[in-house]
Amino acid sequence: MDKQGVIKYLEERSSDFYALSDKIWSNAEIRFQEKESVNDYVAFLEKEGFSVEVGLAGLKTSFKAVWGSGKPVIGFLGEYDALPGLSQKAGVAVKESICGNGNGHGCGHNLLGVGALMGAVGYKHYLETEGKKGTVIYFGCPAEEGGSGKTFMAREGCFNDLDCALSWHPADMNMMPPGPVLANDSIRYSFTGKASHAAAAPEKGRSALDALELMNIGVQFLREHMPSSARIHYAITDTGGISPNIVQAHASALYQIRAPYAPELASLYERVNNIARGAALMTDTEVEIKFLKGTSNTLLIPALDEIMYKNMCEIHNPVEDASDMDFAFEIVKTQKDPNSIGDSAFNIKPYPWNKAGNIPLPGSSDVGDVSWVCPVTQCGTSTWPKGTAAHSWQAVSCGKSDFAHRGMLFAGEIIAATAVDIFNNPEVIEKAWSQHREKTGGQPYVCPIPKEITPAELEAETT
Ligand SMILES: [Zn+2]
Ligand SMILES: [Zn+2]
Repeated sequence: MDKQGVIKYLEERSSDFYALSDKIWSNAEIRFQEKESVNDYVAFLEKEGFSVEVGLAGLKTSFKAVWGSGKPVIGFLGEYDALPGLSQKAGVAVKESICGNGNGHGCGHNLLGVGALMGAVGYKHYLETEGKKGTVIYFGCPAEEGGSGKTFMAREGCFNDLDCALSWHPADMNMMPPGPVLANDSIRYSFTGKASHAAAAPEKGRSALDALELMNIGVQFLREHMPSSARIHYAITDTGGISPNIVQAHASALYQIRAPYAPELASLYERVNNIARGAALMTDTEVEIKFLKGTSNTLLIPALDEIMYKNMCEIHNPVEDASDMDFAFEIVKTQKDPNSIGDSAFNIKPYPWNKAGNIPLPGSSDVGDVSWVCPVTQCGTSTWPKGTAAHSWQAVSCGKSDFAHRGMLFAGEIIAATAVDIFNNPEVIEKAWSQHREKTGGQPYVCPIPKEITPAELEAETT
């Protein structure tokens, strides 16, 4: 059997995979609550002959499914969490919720998890048919959205035995990442002051809200003096109350700080902390700084990216054959000037691979932490029409479409073919590890989430 045989096998079985993805779309479970989704995966993978262990690294909705033995050990990274507040009917080109403010698969993780599973199942089929040895591990990684599932898993050594790991993400184009995603910290800043009558005894009050406002202004000035690809954003989660005649005694905000490389992030984190402390000093209040979670930047490995890109360029992209092109065009029109759409609703031609990997992407992902543990490669494929952003109602609406299925099939085929190529060229793994050592500078992986923070604690914070 060659790669074409694997691709044919996945195509023949595509309806099984589409059905699983649609089921996960309907479950739409958010971070740390993906129980039904995990049950569906476990049942599917056990039927495929994988041995499954649920609940890794203290995360109840994580799992790994193992098949085979011996080298190489190749990991396939799957996700299945939805987003809160993005409930949306499938297959309609208007914003229309199914259940009020319910959950929806706005990041396409129903497709992501199943596409990665197709990679694992296709590669397993190859090894089995050829009678070859090798270990296939599918990792069920929960809570990518705001929960850093893989970061906890990396901290507990779940990925330590891998020779490499493969994954992908739904997108509006076929591409290899042009650079790393950013390292990311989430921190809660809570100010405590003294309540008092704002007119009768203002001198007795100390305003936590003033402190928080000053902190935000301080950070505003910091933005001019930080690396241009770094990002700082915040949400005020407690304004202290609704009565202007009371001096607000408590106020807090959630901050996210992002930077292309972990050491830069550590420095920015300290600068923001100093601004918070300065704001507390100015207002005679106190500040509590609580680090909630973090993820690392991704390390790109050209030796692996090259193989994945080659497969992306060589394999037939079935999105062009989708039966629901009219719907795809309707979705594009909700986001783009109709005159600028062109002949196709999709970006089909693979975006040229930026071998230098030097253009940071302004997002973050816990895949970054896996990439610090072992060489990782991942691609994006066109599951969404041109211009569709992740975390949008349009992305949810497209999640069960024929074109999304076909984009997922394409990703599964690319991943399986990449695994087969790696298997047949074992020197690639050595080269990948040598590039990995170069990128880390030989430094061991340092998890951005301190030991004392448990998944359970984060679960309570974020759900
Ligand atoms: Zn997302
Ligand atoms: Zn995502």
